[in-house]
Amino acid sequence: MFSEEKEGIIISDATELFLGPVTKYEPMYSNEKTDCIVVKNGKIEAIGETSRILAEYPRRDYEVVNCSNKTVCPSFIDTHTHLVFAGDRSHELTMKIQGVSYQEIAKSGGGIMYTVKNTRNASKEELISLALHRLDSMLLHGTTTVEAKSGYGLTPESELKILEAIKEVNEMHPIDIIPTFLGCHMKPPEFIGNEWEYVESMMQILPEIKNRNLAEYVDIWTDQGAFTVEESRMFLSKATEHGFKLRIHVDELDNVGGALLAADLKAASADHLLKSEAVSAKAMADAGVVANLLPGTPFVLMSRNYANYQMFKDAGVTVALSTDFNPNCFILNMQAIIGLGCFMMRMLPEEAVQAATYGGAVSINREQSLGSLDIGMNADILVLDIPNLSSIPYQFGINHADTIIKNGNIIVKNGKRVDKK
Ligand SMILES: [Zn+2]
Repeated sequence: MFSEEKEGIIISDATELFLGPVTKYEPMYSNEKTDCIVVKNGKIEAIGETSRILAEYPRRDYEVVNCSNKTVCPSFIDTHTHLVFAGDRSHELTMKIQGVSYQEIAKSGGGIMYTVKNTRNASKEELISLALHRLDSMLLHGTTTVEAKSGYGLTPESELKILEAIKEVNEMHPIDIIPTFLGCHMKPPEFIGNEWEYVESMMQILPEIKNRNLAEYVDIWTDQGAFTVEESRMFLSKATEHGFKLRIHVDELDNVGGALLAADLKAASADHLLKSEAVSAKAMADAGVVANLLPGTPFVLMSRNYANYQMFKDAGVTVALSTDFNPNCFILNMQAIIGLGCFMMRMLPEEAVQAATYGGAVSINREQSLGSLDIGMNADILVLDIPNLSSIPYQFGINHADTIIKNGNIIVKNGKRVDKK
């Protein structure tokens, strides 16, 4: 026995193959069944019917993954996560369910400032170890690209520490991470009445973040009780001057004009959008801003108020779906988010999967290489142990990920990691 180098991977006999929006692949024959993909040198080399592909690409030269009774789609792109923080908040859940108000939880030392305190006190190594563990779980559920924000430090030093942790984690883990600076996540209590001074302090570290390549995007929370439209416009304009791209938390608690600001500043992504109205959706469509919908957030808040998917669809906005993983919304599983998108926002299963793949790719300006299975695209591919896409929401709460290919390499097989010893 000797092991020989294979030329690539053939994903054959897929019961359902979801390519997403593709422009380069065209079936060779009108009755061709598209159930096979060839992966070579990290990219998608060919797409077509298994019998035709196997005639052209000899089985012995490739690792063949037989996907009969399985579904194949682009792997997930989770473009709204607060990946790096310390301080588990599971102890607050009983109080939350019993109806104790957020203010009371905060007064008793819990809530967001509990996370901030723990994150400030944690070493960078502790933050890295927590983040790696979370990324492992994301990967096993089919996510291969993640956007990760700072925002639980709220001092220049601790925000930089979080961004450094994100950068190191990106080098250590097979998931690709897109870093975002969210120093203006909320106003720390020590700056109440002196908010401009806080915004200034975060503006001052923009050049260092840029020079050290610690973030690609800058984000802010523009909302009732968070940053005003005026503060946000000032901060984001400064970020644009320094060469950052923008994404914004908007219209979660109230419609204060956050989505309109995102459209005005041509942000890549406006996120949450629970309270947005049609005029905002129209402005976002015109400006090419992605609506990044996060149904996990109202779900864990036990709210009935979800984003109006149909309104964004009707306006012609590209929609993304993300977890909003954070200490109050500990969801790492994009299959669960697709389920919530379908059941709580009435997205069709195919629409929800497209939002979790292609929509995410657009929101991080990477739709030319990620988010659909087209010839020449990066081979980031997910094989699910279910016969069709509808079974992701239909069989809710189960991890269906079977095989995961990242940059053309199989890193998960039969639901288990094969890339690390
Ligand atoms: Zn967020």
